[in-house]
Amino acid sequence: MISIILSIGDELVLGQTVDTNSAWLSAQLAAMGCDVAAHATVPDDQTSIESAIQAAAGRSDLLIVSGGLGPTADDLTRQALAAVLGRPLEINAAWLENLEAFFAQRRRPMPQSNRVQAMIPAGARILENTAGTAPGIDADFHPPGAKPCRIFAIPGVPREMKLMFERQIAPHIAAAGRGAVILSRTLHTFGLGESSVAQRLEELMDRRRNPSVGTTVSDGQVSLRINARFEDRARAQTELDSTTELCRRALGDLIFGQDDQTLPGVIGDLLLASQFTVATAESCTGGLLAKMITDIPGSSRYFQRGWITYSNAAKGELLGVPAELLAQHGAVSEPVAIAMADGARQRGGATFALSITGIAGPDGGSPQKPVGTVCIGIAGANPTVATTYNFPGDRESIRDRSAKMALTLLRYQILGKSAPF
Ligand code: AMP
Ligand code: MG
Repeated sequence: MISIILSIGDELVLGQTVDTNSAWLSAQLAAMGCDVAAHATVPDDQTSIESAIQAAAGRSDLLIVSGGLGPTADDLTRQALAAVLGRPLEINAAWLENLEAFFAQRRRPMPQSNRVQAMIPAGARILENTAGTAPGIDADFHPPGAKPCRIFAIPGVPREMKLMFERQIAPHIAAAGRGAVILSRTLHTFGLGESSVAQRLEELMDRRRNPSVGTTVSDGQVSLRINARFEDRARAQTELDSTTELCRRALGDLIFGQDDQTLPGVIGDLLLASQFTVATAESCTGGLLAKMITDIPGSSRYFQRGWITYSNAAKGELLGVPAELLAQHGAVSEPVAIAMADGARQRGGATFALSITGIAGPDGGSPQKPVGTVCIGIAGANPTVATTYNFPGDRESIRDRSAKMALTLLRYQILGKSAPF
């Protein structure tokens, strides 16, 4: 079954409101094996809505239109739908009674404009709204010579839209039952760029492959989305598992987790399982690393303490970094990162200590140490080491990548592996 989603509203087209309805509806439809061919966003203009419905209905079996069902002059979805269907709008007596009861209960007179919400195109069916005053509309569109399309018009308010979809549209799709099942899994990596990850996956990313494998990037984290699409659920599950295994083989320890797992959450699980603890010493990240670690509930079981040693004086006083080291190599240097990590580990009484010192910009860079130069140290069982990275981007992303890289280095350390970056 092919579906198309239309979102109606000037605020969406103007970018004032983000169209979250389409994203949510797409995920629901995909999970039910219903292909989504397109999303379109349309302003509150009747002619535009009519042509969008006409065009979308011509190339789908199922059309979901959200928004524009309110009582005001800019809500034009029902008028546009009636025009496309070539049928008049008729008052639905039962829903008018509902509306009158709704206002009577609140001891308010019903504004005349609300009457329009009880109007639906002749021959269409009402979709009850248990959360608001606008009912949805369920209509069959079957122009001569074209294939039929079932059109659902539903409110734009996300809560009302979701309830109506779950209770009244999803059962229809399940009953139609012609779709395949799509099962998905997401694997997360950090440390390599998207093209390097893709290179290692080779033909797994072939566009014709089923299950398909695609990559997305968000805040430096490259994720693999695996979608298995089969008629049979058991087959889809087996294929999803075997492609997951192939991706894991291709990327090895680069994969830190899957689906809802986060890097700090995975680190927390590893620390808990091994009964190790960690302390942090941060300069340019100003506590971001400690924040990421302590964002995880229960982190008090493994996070000992953290220092924000922004000035040279603080590095010396609080972590014992020798003044000569700072003078000789500068605050952003591997020897200083090592001294910070050693100081934090000794003073924090932790199994591991992570240190970060770098130039987050926009100022402070030099030809030898440009903005984005960050030294990350790790003290633990092995001799303390530090590595210098050159992170791209602005201040925020340099700080974000620095903290995530420190977590990643800790992950490799706990796993007893050496990090490939
Ligand atoms: P409407 O049904 O067009 O009156 O929309 C009511 C409200 O729901 C709008 O003012 C938006 O705040 C919200 N809304 C409508 N469409 C969407 C959408 N596609 N995504 C997120 N919010 C929406
Ligand atoms: Mg609207």
